[in-house]
Amino acid sequence: MEYVSTSTYPDRLATFSGYWDDQEATARQLAAIGHVYDRPPLEAIEEGSRCSSCSNFVRRGLSARALEGDTGSYGESFEIFQFHRPHCIRLQVRIPLEPQATFGGLYGGFRMQEMRSRWERKIQPQIAQTSRFHVGQTSSLFSLPTELRLQIYSMILPSLDHVTEIVPINRDSSRVVTRTGQEKTGPRDLTKSNLLRTCRAIHNEALDILYTNRTYRFANAKTLYLFLRAIGRAGRDLLGQIDVYCGSREDAITFALLSTCPKLRAMTIRLPRPKLIFPRSPIWLVDGVACLLFLSGLEDVRFGDCGSNFPHYLNDPKDDAALIRRELTRPKWSPGNIRWVDGYLDL
Ligand SMILES: [Zn+2]
Repeated sequence: MEYVSTSTYPDRLATFSGYWDDQEATARQLAAIGHVYDRPPLEAIEEGSRCSSCSNFVRRGLSARALEGDTGSYGESFEIFQFHRPHCIRLQVRIPLEPQATFGGLYGGFRMQEMRSRWERKIQPQIAQTSRFHVGQTSSLFSLPTELRLQIYSMILPSLDHVTEIVPINRDSSRVVTRTGQEKTGPRDLTKSNLLRTCRAIHNEALDILYTNRTYRFANAKTLYLFLRAIGRAGRDLLGQIDVYCGSREDAITFALLSTCPKLRAMTIRLPRPKLIFPRSPIWLVDGVACLLFLSGLEDVRFGDCGSNFPHYLNDPKDDAALIRRELTRPKWSPGNIRWVDGYLDL
């Protein structure tokens, strides 16, 4: 059998190239958690990916549903399969929506979430139907000039600050809201954000307002991941500026998904360690760095502080900061300049 090195993220991602182009977000996340494309020797065998460490095979459709599908049904998506065998070394790279990672096991918060998503599935079709009836393409709203419509949206939509912090609804939740929304007392006013649900035309126009010239800020990679999944492909296509505190086990899969955002231009990185990689760094850290350095086409890369507990954060005078900026600002989608030796960054 031909030997292909799959010890680094770029190597693993390369195995998917040309085969999963319509499911790129899934392929990138799979590579981030240690999977490689498994080309079946016989056409009869189902297509999928296999862990490069524990050899666990997962069918393509299942991966796509769990890693790209509607986050409301993620519980069901993960119930029927696992990406790794128990004790696989790659389990240290965490998948934020996996029940074991998001909640304290299958009980407790998970059940609440499951009930909530069932309930929402029940009521959402009704909402969609009523709104289509009232605000269709025939609505007089669409006879207004676009500029005026955009002005109306910006008045109705929740007024977001230039920098908007995103937080989970509660500690164990997979749902995210703006911090201002979370801190509001009393029942949440959903009428405003429901504008996005009224109809597709309004939805698309209003989305632009939500993502253009606005920086979204995240206290960790996991929250960024939940946000990227919650805004869906339409939102990821528009996202332009983020500010994220990195350095966790969710970095790899989060940056892998972030790399599918075509308009990402500006990023503030908060890394609470002075160097990217240390000798004998764990796999999750190496893969997190590899997925971060795979981002490309950015115009503005900054390094932010990490609070008083971490005075030695990665910042500009340091070589690694220059290396990150050099890599991330290379032309969009062009191959990286990083050399990897035996799975480690050769600096
Ligand atoms: Zn594995």
